Amino acid sequence: MSENYDVIIIGAGPAGLTAALYTTRAGLNTLIIEKEMFGGALMNRDLIDNYPGHPEILGPDLASQMLEQATSYGAEMQMGIVEQIIVKDNQKIVKTDQDEYVGNAIIIAGGTHAKKLGIPGEEEFAGKGVIHCATCDGPLYREQVVAVVGGSNDAIYEALSLVKYTSKVLVIHRGDNLRAEKVLRERAFGEPKIEFIWDTTVTAVLGESTVSGIQLNNIKTGETSTLNVDGVCMAVGNTPNTDILAGIVKLGSEGAIPVNVSMETEVPGILAAGNIREDSPMRVASAIGDGATAAMAAERYINTTLR
Ligand SMILES: Cc1cc2nc3c(=O)[nH]c(=O)nc-3n(C[C@H](O)[C@H](O)[C@H](O)COP(=O)(O)OP(=O)(O)OC[C@H]3O[C@@H](n4cnc5c(N)ncnc54)[C@H](O)[C@@H]3O)c2cc1C
Repeated sequence: MSENYDVIIIGAGPAGLTAALYTTRAGLNTLIIEKEMFGGALMNRDLIDNYPGHPEILGPDLASQMLEQATSYGAEMQMGIVEQIIVKDNQKIVKTDQDEYVGNAIIIAGGTHAKKLGIPGEEEFAGKGVIHCATCDGPLYREQVVAVVGGSNDAIYEALSLVKYTSKVLVIHRGDNLRAEKVLRERAFGEPKIEFIWDTTVTAVLGESTVSGIQLNNIKTGETSTLNVDGVCMAVGNTPNTDILAGIVKLGSEGAIPVNVSMETEVPGILAAGNIREDSPMRVASAIGDGATAAMAAERYINTTLR
């Protein structure tokens, strides 16, 4: 038999945990379902220095504080992979790999996963030199040379994380300047272990049993070359975790969920929050703002529609 909740939250990152804090404080019976780690992507971040009120805090520490605060008001936590959502009249049935739950409102806070470049060798060497999380894998590359592909905030976060372990980090970017915010750009340019290769794309990952190099293409000159590296970290963007939502809510650009300013989707009682929603600024601070907004919209929906 399915268990019933006022609100079911999918994903326990900053957006989901904040939503849970607000729904439980409003007296709503709340379940959060998480498939990997309570704390979400924060668990793989080291130093966070743009979260208001904490000039410097480690990602896992911030996550554990958010988790403690959310559960202190009674949010229930369940591990499970949400595989299907069914909308039946005013009820939303959430099926996981283990169980089935029914909610009046659901808040989708499933975040994103790293995009793939789609080049030869990328899949073959996944976990054997192709890196998608520098904080997780950095210690495996002590005194080695690692390339980071990308020029965004995420790419620079990864590069700055890798310099703690590696002998050299090569940032390879298809543009001729970084898109990352000023403070990160300055940190990266001032870091002696980081070198930049501009106007260049990575066209293949090379190696025998593990990565030994990458193939490059200079997009201005058309020149191709090979570079010896021990690892390559892909930081070329993110894809929203919205596969399970096809046919349930309309998906927008690159699979993100379109919402209004109250984080409402086109389906009454289905809200979205954090990096999974369209036009997300992709920061912890914006994710928590979305979580609070979505929780209040869920409360309004339940009070005006269902009570
Ligand atoms: C390298 C790097 C460094 C960063 N550093 C900073 C920083 O210093 N400051 C900053 O503001 N931002 C930083 N960010 C961005 C920040 O991590 C994200 O903006 C934030 O974590 C987004 O929160 P979220 O709750 O939307 O999603 P997430 O934190 O991604 O959480 C989503 C959760 O949903 C779960 N989930 C997904 N699908 C399902 C499913 N089907 N069933 C159950 N659970 C599911 C996932 O397992 C995950 O735990 C960084 C990003 C990167 C890549």
